[in-house]
Amino acid sequence: MTVTRPRVGVLALQGDVREHVHALTASGADATPIRRPAELAAIDGIVIPGGESTTMSKLLGIFDLFDPLQQALNDGLPAYGSCAGMIMLATTILDTRPDARHLDALDITVRRNAFGRQVESFETDLDFIGITDAPGADPMRAVFIRAPWVEAVSPDVQVLATVPAGPAQGRIVAVRQGNILATSFHPEVTGDRRVHEYFVSMVRR
Ligand code: GLN
Repeated sequence: MTVTRPRVGVLALQGDVREHVHALTASGADATPIRRPAELAAIDGIVIPGGESTTMSKLLGIFDLFDPLQQALNDGLPAYGSCAGMIMLATTILDTRPDARHLDALDITVRRNAFGRQVESFETDLDFIGITDAPGADPMRAVFIRAPWVEAVSPDVQVLATVPAGPAQGRIVAVRQGNILATSFHPEVTGDRRVHEYFVSMVRR
């Protein structure tokens, strides 16, 4: 049986690009860094990595990628945003710079650096709908690094994961709307490939 390897780009202006390329390759995709508008035509899906959303916003403009990427998303290109990538995909951002732009592809309100100074970075195990609810599946280890959380979602956004306990209990940290997936946390750093596999299977469909 041949399994198709979809071509998945990783926006490579800034952030943890290599880790996503590695995780996607291990998840059955042909992964390739994206730096030029023309490269968008050759991919079936795109990952927007973690990093710094205000910097990424600037670089998208400098590299003439903002409008072509937004157009590709409007045309239905599947996308997965992790952390800063979630912020970039969202329609409404709280606590950002007034000049920061975002791609308006995911109908959520996101708060940047939401977990506060004391808990800038932390890890927890959580349930992820569509992944950890498989028979015998382990919970997912989620690593948060100056992460955003989702404060509001439109009715067609599905909540896939929330923080299970502690001061941020119940906060939304993974969502999907059609072809767009986003997590506040960084699955590319844990060696758990299940979020990337989930995205690659979204791209295949
Ligand atoms: N705090 C960063 C931002 O606002 C996101 C952090 C991350 O991607 N690890 O863009």
